[in-house]
Amino acid sequence: MTDATRVLVLNSGSSSVKYQLIEMTDGSRPASGLVERIGEPGDCPDHTAALDLVADELAARGLGLDSPQLAAIGHRAVHGGTRFTAPTLITDQVVQAMRELIPLAPLHNPANITGIEIARKLRPDLPQVAVFDTAFHATMPESAARYAIDTATADRYSVRRYGFHGTSHQYVSRRTAELLGKSPEAVNVIVLHLGNGASAAAVAGGRCVDTSMGLTPLEGLVMGTRSGDLDPAILLHLHRVGGLSVDEIDTLLNRRSGLAGLCGDNDMREITRRIAEGDEQARLAFDIYVHRLRKYLGGYYAVLGRVDAIAFTAGVGENAVPVREAALAGLEDLGIDLDHALNQVRSTEPRLISTPTSRVAVAVVPTDEELEIAQQTFGLVRRIQSA
Ligand code: ADP
Repeated sequence: MTDATRVLVLNSGSSSVKYQLIEMTDGSRPASGLVERIGEPGDCPDHTAALDLVADELAARGLGLDSPQLAAIGHRAVHGGTRFTAPTLITDQVVQAMRELIPLAPLHNPANITGIEIARKLRPDLPQVAVFDTAFHATMPESAARYAIDTATADRYSVRRYGFHGTSHQYVSRRTAELLGKSPEAVNVIVLHLGNGASAAAVAGGRCVDTSMGLTPLEGLVMGTRSGDLDPAILLHLHRVGGLSVDEIDTLLNRRSGLAGLCGDNDMREITRRIAEGDEQARLAFDIYVHRLRKYLGGYYAVLGRVDAIAFTAGVGENAVPVREAALAGLEDLGIDLDHALNQVRSTEPRLISTPTSRVAVAVVPTDEELEIAQQTFGLVRRIQSA
């Protein structure tokens, strides 16, 4: 065994590159950072320059890409289609297959691929692994993954439910099992990942059986700026009657909807502040958000049959006390009993916020997608090296 125990996690998005260097022996982060506003005038011109900046920042701290301690690079990848259902060692063929998936994620996959290509140029000899946001959801049964449209048309255009935030749902469901002192196989968990983007997942014995995002991250819960579920005929109506173009409808549903569309603010802190001042519009936005959340909670309760825990994560889930309170109010008959005092406690640690007698545990588990990517990357590289 070598003493290469560090993984560099790269998240190459359309306008930013985030990185974390993670020491796998203890989970510590010797370095982390962010290059923003890629492509904007006066800022970083392109992804090549951004990755060079990351490499320079690391080198300046004696942690350069040539460090013998670096075991691998783990790349966050958004859409793996039906092809990538596990962490994948990156080869030319894998990059080509990711290119073929661009139509499914035109906003995200090109930037992911660019980041991968540049990182491979910088360190061609180092194992690099792609960890897909869709992969954890590949275990969904066909009954949950298929839309009820003509099968031939669906298959021809790869129209099915893929789900996103998979790395987070996987990490949080496992940490929740740990918090209960049980193995992931022994517990059923509903994970509520509530960030700017938001999704729910039903996880049975460590395997995802349903999730709220679909072909794209637009389906499901009310989000910061995205609508979540709606009657698909609304799109036809807006086009036929309103004369909106396809691009205008795309912008409306992805950027001018959700909390922002309902009340002008997409930040839950601002919304709760406005509610405290008696703002009716903010109140209604909050109520619509919570109503949708409760519908998914009830739906996934029935999908799972037995629920051991509900886990809240991401910016809203980890911090918004009133959202957790409203989401679970009055569900004592379902065995869900929130401890109102524990719910108020601020902490960055995974914790239980249900009463000791609550049949369903309620947990707050801060997500750590970078650590999950690093662990999956490191695990795969170790398996390959010892094979
Ligand atoms: P992203 O999807 O961009 O990764 P995050 O998981 O970081 O998002 O969540 C960002 C959102 O979390 C913010 O838009 C805000 O609504 C919410 N948020 C962050 N901190 C708090 C807080 N202290 N109280 C309530 N909401 C918060």
